Amino acid sequence: MNWKNAAAKLDLRSLAFIDGKTVQADDGSLFDTINPATGNLLTSVAACGQRDADLAVAAARRVFEKGSWSRLAPAERGRRLIRFADLMEKHGDELALLETLDVGKPISDSLSVDVPLTVGCARWYGEAVDKIYDEIAPTKPGAIAMMRREPLGVVAAVVPWNFPLLMAMWKIAPVLAAGNSLILKPAEQSPLSALRIAELAVEAGIPDGVFNVLPGLGPVAGRALGLHHDVDAITFTGSTKVGRYFMEYSGKSNLKRVSLECGGKSPNIILADAPDLDAAATAAAWGIFYNQGEVCNAGSRLVVEESVKDEVLEKVIAVARTIKVGDPLDAETQMGPIVDEGQMSRVIDYIAKGTDEGAKLVTGGKALPGTKGYFVEPTIFDDVTNDMTIAQEEIFGPVLATISARDLGEAVKIGNDSVYGLAAAVWTADIDKAFAAARDLRAGVVWVNCFDHGDISSPFGGFKQSGFGRDKSLHALDKYVDIKTTWINLAR
Ligand code: NAD
Repeated sequence: MNWKNAAAKLDLRSLAFIDGKTVQADDGSLFDTINPATGNLLTSVAACGQRDADLAVAAARRVFEKGSWSRLAPAERGRRLIRFADLMEKHGDELALLETLDVGKPISDSLSVDVPLTVGCARWYGEAVDKIYDEIAPTKPGAIAMMRREPLGVVAAVVPWNFPLLMAMWKIAPVLAAGNSLILKPAEQSPLSALRIAELAVEAGIPDGVFNVLPGLGPVAGRALGLHHDVDAITFTGSTKVGRYFMEYSGKSNLKRVSLECGGKSPNIILADAPDLDAAATAAAWGIFYNQGEVCNAGSRLVVEESVKDEVLEKVIAVARTIKVGDPLDAETQMGPIVDEGQMSRVIDYIAKGTDEGAKLVTGGKALPGTKGYFVEPTIFDDVTNDMTIAQEEIFGPVLATISARDLGEAVKIGNDSVYGLAAAVWTADIDKAFAAARDLRAGVVWVNCFDHGDISSPFGGFKQSGFGRDKSLHALDKYVDIKTTWINLAR
């Protein structure tokens, strides 16, 4: 496949998708979406505002009340979600290309990770939805108390740019499976794939108005949804800073339910008795350099037991130096550009701060010269202490901070010394240490002898300021339903 030729022929969608139709923003505003590999304009997209949010919410409410989705038999909703998954699979090359052009991730990753996981997510909720039973409470005889899950109504999903399709589908599939109507606000860096799959949803038989896409700027379109009095819930993935805004918007408007999947600074702890130090070091390198380091659960803090720190670090550096950074449309590329110029300068500023605060730069550290794209080298710091800025703040780029620890106890203490608690890992051959670490690390997921493993059947989400609520698994459905009790008094 020649991905450059395919990219040149691609038809990029640029209009909002409201009530089954493509529309311009009400006031005609546009924003640019840029190819981060070249710095060139891809297209200008409708920049929606308050009036467009009102239209989308009204359409979503109308169809919800009509019941053509919300009151459909779960098995039928499931069939249409599975058809949606099949259509995304059929258009997989196109969707992968849109992801790569919009955010710069290597085409091989878009094809092997983003698209299949997105398809798998839609299919899983489609298959699950008619296998979930409601409950009857163990009350006194003479009464029946039914507890039924009811859809909330209109849900708005506000999502980031690092995995545009996948982060969106972690919301779309359970929101729709539960019978709600949805308004999806993609990040301004990455609106293209969301606009395309809205068309596929309609083709799959999801009624007009059930799945709307509202592209636009966060402080305008995102804020309008957050403050909207007729949105019943916000499901958000993004930074902790913006997560806080959604809590405020809810308090200032209608107390809509809010669930937050926010940032992370995950510790990856390697102990001297790890079963395979080579495997641990390779996983540590990919745990931070995969997707250009733009991963919420990236293992950005490598905490290594003192006695093996130099040996492990040497191996991680060796992997980092083999990573092929370059054109994301080249099938051999392993790391593409950072998503945009602003994020690239943020990453470069953090690298400078690391050096200023006394950490030792051992590889990388620079933007790639001679290119108009936003490429940054895989970067590793040694001699980091956990109070340094690069150990405390989420960089969201390919920058690893290596910290020494005397033993497991100190490693866990360092791991927990963070406002975040999204994920953590420990590498050890000792089952007692593995269990102790899994128990004591304050994180939504703890991996033992692996990094970033997962499955749609296992929940994902954070402790502390990494957020609350869970994506993936049947637990995600809890965020999109309310429980209604119907108490029936029996006359006999
Ligand atoms: P961001 O918070 O800047 O933006 C996320 C979304 O919020 C975007 O759609 C944006 O337009 C919108 N937004 C921005 N400002 C807003 C405002 N004032 N009001 C309303 N909406 C607003 O995050 P980002 O830069 O797109 O993504 C990176 C962040 O996402 C990182 O912190 C990363 O850790 C996090 N993330 C978390 C998870 C998870 O599952 N926990 C997954 C992926 C990414």
